[in-house]
Amino acid sequence: MPSDRQHRLAIVQFGGLLLANGFVAATDGNLSVRLDSKHLLVTPTCISKGRMRTSDLVIVDMEGRRVAGKRRVSSEIGMHLLIYRLRPDVQGIVHAHPPTATGFAASGLDLNRPLVCEVVVGLGSIPLARYGTPGTPELTEVLEPLIPDHDAILMANHGVVTFGSSLESAYMKMETVEHFAKISLVTHLLGNAQPLGAKEVEKLNEVRHRYKSSVSSRKPAAPDQLASDDESKETAGSRQ
Ligand SMILES: [Zn+2]
Repeated sequence: MPSDRQHRLAIVQFGGLLLANGFVAATDGNLSVRLDSKHLLVTPTCISKGRMRTSDLVIVDMEGRRVAGKRRVSSEIGMHLLIYRLRPDVQGIVHAHPPTATGFAASGLDLNRPLVCEVVVGLGSIPLARYGTPGTPELTEVLEPLIPDHDAILMANHGVVTFGSSLESAYMKMETVEHFAKISLVTHLLGNAQPLGAKEVEKLNEVRHRYKSSVSSRKPAAPDQLASDDESKETAGSRQ
C-alpha cells in the first residue's frame, strides 16, 4: 500500500493532470483518497488543483472533520464521504468539470448508450444525476441511488464524479468519460449512431463483472489491516 507521502504526491500529480487536460478551471474540482478506515486525505477549497503542494492537503475523519492540515476542506466533502461509506471498495475519488461531458450533463443527457465496447467493459453505463446544489444534502441525495452500481456519474448542470480502487483508477475513469463524451458528440453529429445490441452488451457486461470480481479478490485485506501495513512502513509522525 502507498504511504501517506505517496498518497499526497498522487493527489498533487492527478490534480495537475486535471488542469493540464482542461478538466477543471480556476479552483474547480476535488480529489481524495482513503488513508485507512477512519481517515481521508482530501484537497482543500479555494486552490488550483494544478498548483497544490503536498502540505496543502487536509486529513479529515469519516464525519468530515479536519484532523490535520491548515487549509479549509473542500465544500464537496459530503459527496466524497457518501461514496466511501456506500462503497468499501473505493480508495480514490475525482470530481471535475470536463467540458464535453459537462456539456452533456448541462443538456440533460446521460452517457448510457452502448456506443463503444471498451467503455461498456470499463464503466458499464454513465448515468445522469438530477441537479442538486453543490455542497448540500440535495446533491448527496440525488447521487446516493446511483453510487452502488456505477463508477462514474454525470451531475446535471455541474460536472462529473469518478471513483475506483485507487486514485489513478478514478482519474483514468474521468479521462474515459470525457473521451467517450467526445466520441458520443461526434457520433451524434454524423447522424448515424449504431449502438451495440442487447446481446453484445450482455457479453461485455459478463467480461466487466468477471474483471471486477478478479480485481476485488486480489485485495483481501480489510482497510484496518491495510492501514497498519501502511503505518509500519512509515517513519514515526509522518502522517501530518
Ligand atoms: Zn464541481
